[in-house]
Amino acid sequence: MSDVKPAIERLNKNLAAAKPSATYKMMDRVAARRAAGAAIISLNAGEPDFATPQHICEAAIMGIRTGHTRYTQVAGTRELREAVAEKFRSENGLNVTWQDTIVGTGGKQVLFNALAATLNEGDEVIIPAPYWVSYPEMVQLSGGKAVIVDCPESDGFKLTASALENAITPSTRWLLINSPSNPTGAVYTRDELQALAQVLLKHEHVLILADDIYEHLTFDAARFYTLAQVEPALQSRTLTMNGVSKAFAMTGWRIGFAAGPRWLIDAMTNLQGQQTSGASSVSQFAAAAALSGPRDVLEEMRNTFEQRRNLLVELLNAIPGLSCPVPGGAFYVFASCKDLIGKRTPAGTRIETDEDFAIALLEEADVAVMPGSAFGLGPYVRIAYALHETSLRAACAAIRQFCSSLR
Ligand code: PLP
Repeated sequence: MSDVKPAIERLNKNLAAAKPSATYKMMDRVAARRAAGAAIISLNAGEPDFATPQHICEAAIMGIRTGHTRYTQVAGTRELREAVAEKFRSENGLNVTWQDTIVGTGGKQVLFNALAATLNEGDEVIIPAPYWVSYPEMVQLSGGKAVIVDCPESDGFKLTASALENAITPSTRWLLINSPSNPTGAVYTRDELQALAQVLLKHEHVLILADDIYEHLTFDAARFYTLAQVEPALQSRTLTMNGVSKAFAMTGWRIGFAAGPRWLIDAMTNLQGQQTSGASSVSQFAAAAALSGPRDVLEEMRNTFEQRRNLLVELLNAIPGLSCPVPGGAFYVFASCKDLIGKRTPAGTRIETDEDFAIALLEEADVAVMPGSAFGLGPYVRIAYALHETSLRAACAAIRQFCSSLR
């Protein structure tokens, strides 16, 4: 068969060059193993296992009953945008009103549209690695160039001021920063953000995209800060993005939001208006109830995640061949598997990369994790702990047995 595609199948060049989501690829593998009858423990998914809190569900039902079922304004309902602005003011110290905000179909759409609305051919976006899998592909789809900056474990998987300074060029359009981080769980301190801010203040042409989607999941002494809060002088060129997916266990409702400069919010609104229009009216109603309602549900989930993290880190670090630092936030552990590279599995597969390790672990031990190289740094694996403790213990026992069977 020829590799040349018939003209009718020719794709947009930016899409043709983008990789399909690594996370979805792993989900397909898991589904195929399950369909073949295997009982897989999934530590690969990036979503909380909790149900959406009851009062939020009740609010959504009330929204439907009271007729909140029509198109909304493109940038979101006034009620939700007011609640978003209030959240950014009271929790993050940002100086914003509802007109400085936008609501989208998930944080993903907000991020994508910020990039799509502003990137032209040759524009560079600095992405610290390890990164969330979608960032480089979103940049690629928008015609920009992802500039990946390695942030090794010795730097806590975090971008340093000098690495940032070295990466900035006259073509830099955005810096993307994500704290707490998917996939490492790293949380930037106020001082670390301040050091980055000092560099950014010198480069006035750089916009900043702060992805704060894991804001409410920080552990121990780690406290959450966002860049525009730490350095208010950067607020006029920062898009601070957040959402209800992770904090309120509302991944399926698809509501994300952001606050930023008006010209950018207007451009993103213009784009969204030709694309999806406003986000789901019922979901917006529910998200407004989530933001204006009680916060004790967040603390309960945070506590549970912290206990699971403690358990997982302890169990993983006791497995010969794996090692992981203690993450300060989110619900991921990023474990090094470098000592297992070069070994052979009982089924005879030689493990050359973290991807080989993740696939063999799934095929031979029924545990699904994500290879770190999908997030821009190998040989590591990302292990999500959005599962009950019993399943985490069972998964660690299976990983332990698999690792000790390697020769
Ligand atoms: N940013 C990061 C770092 C994420 O991990 C995710 C989801 O996995 C998102 C953004 C998108 O969240 P949403 O479900 O609101 O689109």
